[in-house]
Amino acid sequence: MPLDSEQIEKQILRFQDELFDRGLRLTKQREQVFRIVLGAEGHLSAEDLHRQVREQNRSIGFATVYRTLRVLVDCGLIEVRQFGDGVQRYESAAGDHHDHMICVACGEVFEFEDDEIERLQIKAAESRGFEIVSHRLDIYIRRCDSPKCGPLSKRRLNHR
Ligand SMILES: [Zn+2]
Ligand SMILES: [Zn+2]
Repeated sequence: MPLDSEQIEKQILRFQDELFDRGLRLTKQREQVFRIVLGAEGHLSAEDLHRQVREQNRSIGFATVYRTLRVLVDCGLIEVRQFGDGVQRYESAAGDHHDHMICVACGEVFEFEDDEIERLQIKAAESRGFEIVSHRLDIYIRRCDSPKCGPLSKRRLNHR
């Protein structure tokens, strides 16, 4: 979910602090990579990010993008997502918590928030004497209303 410009600037400052703690500097390239993640609508792979950052800076290499992503994950500023296709995707860790539904037919990812599901997860952990540190909920779906993603049986009929 995209952040507003004030939130984005706060995140850049946090990145600068985290880099400083690691003896690193906020270079133009590191900043460019992070700004693309912060401004993204969805979930980007390292290749997607490299393509986008190259539109601003032709000289940035894939290795730089990838190393920057590792540092950002290490700092807790971005999170890695795995949606079952073996590709790692990244999104900002700031902003409201959300979970994901992933279409098994086309791979499209939908973000959602459901207070009742969140409450039930806390209840399930607490009833076992645990406290939730974090959670990730990915629900694999097939869109029933989409001609290319609808139920298998219907798709077979359509192709006959
Ligand atoms: Zn959740
Ligand atoms: Zn997401």
